[in-house]
Amino acid sequence: MTNPQHNESSEAGDVAAGHVRIFDTTLRDGEQTPGFSMDRRAKLRMAQMLEALGVDVLEAGFPAASPDDFAAVAQIAGLLKTTTACALARCVPGDIDGAGRALENAQRSRIHVFLSTSPLHREHKLGMSRQQVLDAAVAGVERAVRLAHEVEFSAEDAMRTEPEFLAEVFSAAAAAGATTLNAPDTVGYLTPAEIAERFAYLIANVKRGRRVVFSSHCHNDLGLAVANSLAAVGAGARQVECTINGIGERAGNAALEEIVMAMKVRGAWFGTDTRIDTRKLYPASRLLAELTGQPVPRNKAIVGANAFAHESGIHQHGMLKHRGTYEIMRPEDVGIAETKLVLGKHSGRAALRQRLEALGHEIDEAALDEIFARFKTLADQKREIHDDDLDALARGRDPDAAGPWRMTRLDTSAHLAAGASASVKLVHEDGREVAEAALGDGPVDAVLRALERATGTTLEVTRFEIRAVGEGADAQGEARLTTRSAARDWHGHGVSTDIVEAAAQAALAIVNRIARHAADHTATPVTKSKQLGTTA
Ligand code: MN
Repeated sequence: MTNPQHNESSEAGDVAAGHVRIFDTTLRDGEQTPGFSMDRRAKLRMAQMLEALGVDVLEAGFPAASPDDFAAVAQIAGLLKTTTACALARCVPGDIDGAGRALENAQRSRIHVFLSTSPLHREHKLGMSRQQVLDAAVAGVERAVRLAHEVEFSAEDAMRTEPEFLAEVFSAAAAAGATTLNAPDTVGYLTPAEIAERFAYLIANVKRGRRVVFSSHCHNDLGLAVANSLAAVGAGARQVECTINGIGERAGNAALEEIVMAMKVRGAWFGTDTRIDTRKLYPASRLLAELTGQPVPRNKAIVGANAFAHESGIHQHGMLKHRGTYEIMRPEDVGIAETKLVLGKHSGRAALRQRLEALGHEIDEAALDEIFARFKTLADQKREIHDDDLDALARGRDPDAAGPWRMTRLDTSAHLAAGASASVKLVHEDGREVAEAALGDGPVDAVLRALERATGTTLEVTRFEIRAVGEGADAQGEARLTTRSAARDWHGHGVSTDIVEAAAQAALAIVNRIARHAADHTATPVTKSKQLGTTA
């Protein structure tokens, strides 16, 4: 089926007319959302994954938000080889200069300046007239052009801006040197037909050179972010701003994996494509879930656990005869490992490594040694090792949570109707040895209190989950713990056949993260200001 309306000629793109650039903002719009904050190492790992996935532009953060954000953007910019590194900046000199400095080491850099253009924002947020907004946009773009390879201009709240004024601002931004013009639906208000109409108007009315690309940035408040982004593409937009798993402000941004697979599966309809390696979509989704401690809903399109599961008898019967009966894409197309191979005690290192990599884990030799040893121990306890078990082994190892503290002893006892007690012994990498005991409401609480005393870290628990991993009564327990301190969330995982020990490992991972963070930031406060105004 082809779409009679798709824009073959697409004057709004310089390369192939059908090439849609994927601008990933997982580490900016996504990361600034409650529950999704990531520490520096987590951001670097995610950035590497996004480059491997093949995103065209990676928005690494908002350097003016905090020294921590600045440092993260600078590190990511230095790391990327082929992906354009992008930094967000308000239309003010300090932000733009900071973004330029953060991007200094990038192979390819983009400064993304944004300014509100809607009457509501002009009057109530900025206190600026149309002319003042126009002048500020031009001054911002002109300043940014000198500091990066390319400049993107975003008109915040574009979709509630008078169309003719928006076209005037975009024309001025393009004349000043912006090569990407982004029209965000900041508040997630529009419908696909309206978005298409607005992009068609802009493409027809903005004065610009041939290299200028129009971009969409849609929010999911009405569940329309992906539909709206695709409508913008249908009307000629050639950049889509999106995030892995659709994370982002409020109800989130458009989900990258959904946009990409819609264009791939329905390529004939859209007449467009991306350069994303779709087999890395599932690993990228899992990595983000792992780094943020936020699981993906089972029914999530493309990457949810049920996305390719066929439970009903009628569907299973159809699937066995021909996959096409109920499947419009193959699980392996999005990187879900096709085999249901079960590993056991006789499986070797190579099989383990292959399986872990298929599940999206990056494994070096040292990690493989450690996981293989634990795999063998587990294989003695359990007959069959399933994917869930392997995930848990790889996550439980949690390389990001290594040191400075190591737990050498853990004892707990529960007292019927009288709480519990725990004692721990820890060794610090500087040689210190600490032993502490504490009472608590239950064994897990007692362990947390003992760890607090031993390490001097406050563990204010905001979420605690224990779940069985794999199948059967011999399943392992996985503990996921989130605590809040210094205005940010900290996540830890632990896996063990003993759930109290799993919880202790999760808590220790957090203690280590906080300790390492403090060591990395002795000169700067941990507090992260996200109060720099709403962003596009
Ligand atoms: Mn946004």
